[in-house]
Amino acid sequence: MSDAVAQYATNDSSKAPEEKVNLLGLSREKMADFFVSIGEKPFRSQQVLKWIHHNGVEDFDQMTNIGKKLREELKQKAEIRPPEIVSQHDSADGTRKWAIRVGGGGLVETVYIPDGGRATLCVSSQVGCSLDCSFCSTGKQGFQRDLTAAEIIGQVFLAVKSFDGFVDSQKRIITNVVMMGMGEPLLNFDNVVDAMSLMLDDFGYGISKRRVTLSTSGVVPALDRLGDVSEVSLAISLHAPNDELRNQLVPINKRYPIAELLAACNRYWDKQSDTHRVTTVEYTLIAGVNDQPEHARELVELLKGFPCKINLIPFNPFSLSDYQRPSKKAVQRFWQILSDANFITTIRSTRGDDIDAACGQLVGQVEDRTKRSERHRANYTESQVINVR
Ligand code: SF4
Repeated sequence: MSDAVAQYATNDSSKAPEEKVNLLGLSREKMADFFVSIGEKPFRSQQVLKWIHHNGVEDFDQMTNIGKKLREELKQKAEIRPPEIVSQHDSADGTRKWAIRVGGGGLVETVYIPDGGRATLCVSSQVGCSLDCSFCSTGKQGFQRDLTAAEIIGQVFLAVKSFDGFVDSQKRIITNVVMMGMGEPLLNFDNVVDAMSLMLDDFGYGISKRRVTLSTSGVVPALDRLGDVSEVSLAISLHAPNDELRNQLVPINKRYPIAELLAACNRYWDKQSDTHRVTTVEYTLIAGVNDQPEHARELVELLKGFPCKINLIPFNPFSLSDYQRPSKKAVQRFWQILSDANFITTIRSTRGDDIDAACGQLVGQVEDRTKRSERHRANYTESQVINVR
């Protein structure tokens, strides 16, 4: 393997034993660099990107505008290898959820949510998550590893293929992508940025930058870096109106408190060329924890002057958690206080109820490198024993 090829191969931890470069995850620039590295013209990158992301082609022999000699060379040095669908669950409301096996045996979830003229794909960025938010099923499973760029964009590739979207290229299967599945995307920065650039690229999936959203729990330094290299929409997992409560729900808040996170969002938008874009604030409502009128009023005060819209998410109970779903009345009351203060506020409707568990549950346990999942299981069992005494 040449040094140049080795450089691409080492960027992809899911590579096959012969260490071929997985072209699926290469951004336009990296694809051009790859072709230059094997002595070809950079324009080959556009041809191959279109074959992969417009036509769903995985076999170099189907790339009819590429000569036989180059196709043979590509077969020796490269591959197009999406991750593998392990199971698919279809809901009566059209939601489709996949468990996807990635390199090394880990599993992640991808969810397709149709809604009128729009269809959103929720994409994972890590196997598990290292951040341990107290209301999150994925966090309780611990952390295994970052996904490669090929494994991230591969979820989009598989979803489009699953709906025959490559057969009829006029049919837009996915209108929106949210980086809101398993994992904290900003802790897998380079691979997430590469994958998102393919979502936006006209030679990739051509989705508008306003319709690709990165959701973060608040890794402030990485958010500052993101503003320098990406123009996607931004969502933050806030979930509490003050630092004391957020420290309990979203532990990374101890490192980057709310004021720093909101300031980083403002800096992100300052770097964007277009105006009138705002941060989406996600707030999971948990019964008796953060869903009371005083929390809503405190949130109004906190977000005064911060350009945003608010998405309220009623907590979805799962095993290993003692938290409860809020009553409809509590959700409505919370919404009313925010709306009366002129915040654009939506309540996330429950979708795919018949196939769903909380996000992250479909794949079961990840191979946890942090041992956190063992601790959570032990603590949970203990609390259940105390509860029945
Ligand atoms: S909410 Fe997001 S950042 Fe927090 S533990 Fe879950 S996946 Fe990780």
